[in-house]
Amino acid sequence: MFLQRRMAEPYKIKSVELINVLNEQEREAALIEGGYNTFLIRSDQVYIDLLTDSGTSAMSDLQWAALQRGDEAYAGSKSWYRLEHAVQEIYGYRHVIPTHQGRGAENLLSQLKIHPGDYVPGNMYFTTTRAHQELNGGTFVDIIIDEAHDPQAELPFKGNVDLVKLENLIQKVGADKIPYVSVAVTVNLAGGQPVSMQNLRDVYALCQKHSIPVMFDATRCVENAYFIKEREVGYERVPVKDILKEMMSYSDGCTMSGKKDCLVNIGGFLAMNDDDLYTRARELVVLYEGMPSYGGMAGRDMEAMAQGIYEAVDDLYIAHRINQVRYLGDQLINAGVPVVRPIGGHAVFLEARAFLPHLDQEQFPAQALAAALYLDSGVRSMERGIVSSGRNKVTGENNHPKLELVRLTIPRRVYTDNHMDVVADSVISLYEKRDKISGLEMVYEPPTLRFFNARFEPLAANGRLIQD
Ligand SMILES: *Cc1c(COP(=O)(O)O)cnc(C)c1O
Repeated sequence: MFLQRRMAEPYKIKSVELINVLNEQEREAALIEGGYNTFLIRSDQVYIDLLTDSGTSAMSDLQWAALQRGDEAYAGSKSWYRLEHAVQEIYGYRHVIPTHQGRGAENLLSQLKIHPGDYVPGNMYFTTTRAHQELNGGTFVDIIIDEAHDPQAELPFKGNVDLVKLENLIQKVGADKIPYVSVAVTVNLAGGQPVSMQNLRDVYALCQKHSIPVMFDATRCVENAYFIKEREVGYERVPVKDILKEMMSYSDGCTMSGKKDCLVNIGGFLAMNDDDLYTRARELVVLYEGMPSYGGMAGRDMEAMAQGIYEAVDDLYIAHRINQVRYLGDQLINAGVPVVRPIGGHAVFLEARAFLPHLDQEQFPAQALAAALYLDSGVRSMERGIVSSGRNKVTGENNHPKLELVRLTIPRRVYTDNHMDVVADSVISLYEKRDKISGLEMVYEPPTLRFFNARFEPLAANGRLIQD
């Protein structure tokens, strides 16, 4: 029999943050106080925080040391040159514009490239990305493969662009109405699903034929590179760093949220090869972010991000990162818990309607499940379903999204595999008593972005979320 060698965290712990562990009565009180909404629970009431992987990474000793090296000069900061060099070396683009986070880069790119009446194709939308495109008069067009919308379709590269959809759009509206094609690597809203190297190559070739630039949403590009190493023929032995460089060579630039794959708590950038676009971006960034040599970041934050860019492409780091997420996902799959397949790069998604089939979608199954998980173990997750989808602007009815999910998002380098075991145990034990979990009623609904502040109460006659 082969022994499957196990892998431990490729880091050791030098400084720890103590966790406040509440008992069940305290958790129930916190849940009532927070209106059964995980956004309204205070972080000191949370045991394991899987709300998001954005800005929640743990920095290394070298990153903390780099903070001290931060050069806060208003112009020509040494820290800026280090960051610029890191992006040029690791991602391969010629020009870099720093921004306070990813959406700052999206704002600049959208303003510089999109004209009213334009179409911006992308492999599934992301909230802030699409909002900036629409704000500038563009229309987002989804060109991801159909299977990406099916939570059970087991494909190695479920984030791929459907080339026929892209080609049809070009024929229909004309290349001059498409300022650029936006390709996300990986695709967040599809569950952190990757795009293959072959697909990136094909998209780039098609776009070059029509003189349409390709801009990546590079937010989780290192995670995408690891999936290529794992799943695409010919890349098994290629270092992730080299795979990443090749990926980026099939684009003309990118927007980046440093809060994810750059391993920092804040920061971002816009990168490009085009000289003219760079010149215009250097002028625009002054209005929204700051001088082109800091773009809304402190010198110390640029230092930490430069260091993080190098650390993120370490093969051992990224292998453990992806496998830790999968380690949690596989435990749930093995216990029969309904999750989005295959497990993506940054999160495990529970399918709340299959988990709680006795609840109608109007009884907020994902919200109820997220609340039940917190009540059971103090694990904080996020609803991505009917509450997040809001209401139809015309009819006022609740939107009914196809996917009703609870997202367990894993911060980078923060938790050990033991924490994943605790999460798995809690989800599995809830699944075993799933028929005891009550639906919710929304008792306060804010007019916009209701998921942040909405309040709920259990529908059960005795007012308890989980029946004994
Ligand atoms: C987080 C994120 C962004 C926006 O980045 P911020 O740094 O939060 O502004 C853009 N695209 C994707 C896919 C993201 O996950």
